[in-house]
Amino acid sequence: QPTPDYAQLIEQAHQKYKGNHEGKVADYIPALATYSPNNFAITIATVDGKIYQVGDVKKAFPMESLSKVFTMALAMEQRGPQEVLDKLGANATGLPFNSGLAVELTRGAPENPLVNAGAMSTVSLIEAKDKTDRWNKILNNLNAWADASLTVNEPVFKSEMETNQHNQALAMLMASYNSFYGDTREAVEIYTRQCSVDITVEQLAKMGAVLANKGKSPFNGKQLLNERYVPQVLAEMAIAGLYDGSGKWLYSVGIPAKSGVGGGMVAVVPGQYAIAVYSPPLDAAGNSVRAQQTIEYVAHATQANLFLAH
Ligand code: GLN
Repeated sequence: QPTPDYAQLIEQAHQKYKGNHEGKVADYIPALATYSPNNFAITIATVDGKIYQVGDVKKAFPMESLSKVFTMALAMEQRGPQEVLDKLGANATGLPFNSGLAVELTRGAPENPLVNAGAMSTVSLIEAKDKTDRWNKILNNLNAWADASLTVNEPVFKSEMETNQHNQALAMLMASYNSFYGDTREAVEIYTRQCSVDITVEQLAKMGAVLANKGKSPFNGKQLLNERYVPQVLAEMAIAGLYDGSGKWLYSVGIPAKSGVGGGMVAVVPGQYAIAVYSPPLDAAGNSVRAQQTIEYVAHATQANLFLAH
């Protein structure tokens, strides 16, 4: 199969979808409401270390739920996939990403590490000496994957800390079922901080490319995740990366992906490339509308669907 013309494909997708104004910028975290709905950027990062980009690629945005993937990978690296399966799960909830009902229905099993309850539980599972060490391990891990020195967006962090009562309640509920492995306040704060880390589409695509490249960054050459665990991380993304939109996504596009309410989304085609898109307006499940359209377009054109005979 000839190498696809990635530059041309993302240019076409950008043209095709930039005029689509469907969706709504997240405002339940007040600071997120200040981002322009017109921001639109696309990057493809290939396993051989090439980068293709178009649009507002210099504009940084908060990772939000995108961060969950990489902290889950760190937990897997530290504790192995069996413990992740036993403690965090690998099931769709079929419910919104911050559902308390989902936690109640399973009496505290978070179902997966990509819903808020499971992601906060993941933070509490990270092996660390103390709070500072826990945060440093999480940030250093994000930096290594992104091949960059990422920073926390302080106004977003402050805004989210002031309005995260629901997440605090989820953490307490999980703790009441012994599904939490550390101090709830500490884990909620560190979770909120990792969600507030700023990123660009280029950095995000580089993070995805680690997963496309058997756990090794094509950009800094570091083996960041045991090659044998990569399929488990991708499976969690396939199960829950787009929350209650995950099934529809897998049915129509067929590649693992993850979204964040800041408008970012990344998808992985194992052995080939990762694609990251930034566009703030979200659908009802909290997934970027233009990002889903763009990735579907590129995935289709490159016959990336994992369920096709390759
Ligand atoms: N920080 C956000 C929250 O906890 C992340 C949610 C998301 O991106 N889906 O609500």
